[in-house]
Amino acid sequence: MFVLPDLPYVYDALEPTISAKTMHVHHDKHHAGYVKTLNELLAKAGRSPASLEEVIAASASEAKLYNSAAQAWNHAFFWDSMAPGAEKPRGDLAAAITSAFGDSLAETFVAEGAGHFGSGWVWLIADAAGKLTVASTHDAHDMVTVEGRTPLLVCDVWEHAYYLDYQNDRKAFLTAWFNHLANWDFAAAQLAAATGRGPVWRYPAPARDSGAQAA
Ligand code: MN
Repeated sequence: MFVLPDLPYVYDALEPTISAKTMHVHHDKHHAGYVKTLNELLAKAGRSPASLEEVIAASASEAKLYNSAAQAWNHAFFWDSMAPGAEKPRGDLAAAITSAFGDSLAETFVAEGAGHFGSGWVWLIADAAGKLTVASTHDAHDMVTVEGRTPLLVCDVWEHAYYLDYQNDRKAFLTAWFNHLANWDFAAAQLAAATGRGPVWRYPAPARDSGAQAA
């Protein structure tokens, strides 16, 4: 059984950029729903995987399982990609950003997300040499199984992420998100992991009591 991770802050911590109402619906309904479906599908198949990363890697041909597993992962990573009162990038991360983007990372990230057609995710990622790029994925598609790439940050660009607060103005959401919520300490830890200098972020391991599940 995979758990739904608690938010790493209180529900109104990201206001006014993201309202408590959006956070409640997003975490308690959308994210919870993906975790519930994931656990139901695994139970039905009699599978008890050791990690969510393993499920994502092994379920490419099982759309429903892949979608719930990847969405469970992407959302947990998204919560950690945000921090209230986030500071500016520092140290190695600041140098890597300048090297790859000059001073146009914000513009590049916002444009990638605003121009992404339909639902998906916009990512800041690093290769094993620490070179940064921005990319987006469609629907549930993950970045954890992409060989040689480590995600540093992600922003959810499904409408449910911003519609209550910004209606159709995805660009305004992304701009506010990048300027006020991007968690640069988290990104720096992931950059260190990408280049072999620390542990990479993982979804919480499942509870191993796969017999009788509490309701
Ligand atoms: Mn979402």
